[in-house]
Amino acid sequence: MKTIAVNADLIAYCGLYCGSCKKYVAGSCPGCHENNKASWCKIRSCNMEHGYASCAECKEFSDPMSCKKFNNFISKFFALIFRSDRAACIAMIREKGYEGFAKYMAENGLQSVRKN
Ligand code: SF4
Ligand code: SF4
Repeated sequence: MKTIAVNADLIAYCGLYCGSCKKYVAGSCPGCHENNKASWCKIRSCNMEHGYASCAECKEFSDPMSCKKFNNFISKFFALIFRSDRAACIAMIREKGYEGFAKYMAENGLQSVRKN
């Protein structure tokens, strides 16, 4: 079992914080960036193609919710179940930077900024 640590490399391409995810902490998932099994994810492959660390760096969409890859059916489903708000995560990355976001998420044990 790992502890929740501040590590900007654990910020997923979509803005989630893998460092606070139960699967990552339990050692059963390496986190989004290292998880080559997640080749199904269009957000991940789009970021890798562009050389971005996350959608916060996207030059095409200032609002990621306008992007069909980011705002897809599966992400809407998960947002509803887990009350996650990845667009708010992306906004917070832009505001605080990667290090500041990782620190905030790790200190609060959050995988995502929550929807109210
Ligand atoms: S949805 Fe895609 S980008 Fe987000 S954590 Fe999963 S694999 Fe990574
Ligand atoms: S917002 Fe859309 S186009 Fe921009 S990096 Fe993310 S997935 Fe790619």
